[in-house]
Amino acid sequence: MRSGDMLYEGKAKQLFLTEDPTVVRVKYKDSATAFNNQKRATLEGKGEMNNRISTFFFQLLNEKGIANHFIEEISPLEQLVRKVTIIPVEVVVRNIAAGTMAKRLGMAEGTKLKHPIVEFYYKDDELGDPLITEEHISVLDLATNEQVSQLKEQALKVNDILSAFLLEQNIILVDFKLEFGLDGDGNVLLADEISPDTCRFWDKETGERLDKDRFRRDLGQVVEAYHEIWNRLGGK
Ligand code: UDP
Repeated sequence: MRSGDMLYEGKAKQLFLTEDPTVVRVKYKDSATAFNNQKRATLEGKGEMNNRISTFFFQLLNEKGIANHFIEEISPLEQLVRKVTIIPVEVVVRNIAAGTMAKRLGMAEGTKLKHPIVEFYYKDDELGDPLITEEHISVLDLATNEQVSQLKEQALKVNDILSAFLLEQNIILVDFKLEFGLDGDGNVLLADEISPDTCRFWDKETGERLDKDRFRRDLGQVVEAYHEIWNRLGGK
């Protein structure tokens, strides 16, 4: 494979090789999917918003000392990031019961949790990304115990930083999903994206959904909501 070749195409992004073997170019797409790919649409402008918003959050986290893959934004749709091998575990942090947790545990959506919690999901489309325990991670050899501790610790730190920052913009961070990867030296780096596709953002005053639930639940005005998040982050 050569510089410029596509390395991987996911549901929301494409990855391309660059001249530097330790760096890849990410291109955000306008496609939206939900419910394990059963619901699909093209939402014009979503890719740009997710690139902008994700760039913003990765830079903020960099400033706060959270190691992540982000290098720079190079166009409205593209970033350069460190090449990592993704750990096949989705790390979800929740502050308020919503989505699958509310459903699974019979909780009213919007119930504030006593403290933030971390959940792990096995990143496997065929299995529908099942909820797993640390012991499952161990027996499946998805990550070492030490790495799992790092994932939890980093995820909770990210939660503290983003929750506090977003609250100042009148946004409640309900929950979000992170992915981590290993760089060439085996360091754990926060990777993937942090955007309205991967977080639940609720307006603090009205409770209005400003995230992908607008797509999942057919609430309309999806890209407009992503723009609203971008504007509140300072949208520059
Ligand atoms: N999430 C994600 N990708 C997934 C599953 C969940 O980004 O494959 C995010 C989702 O946007 C939400 C959080 O993780 O912010 C918790 O999602 P939940 O388990 O409630 O599932 P969902 O209702 O999103 O299917």
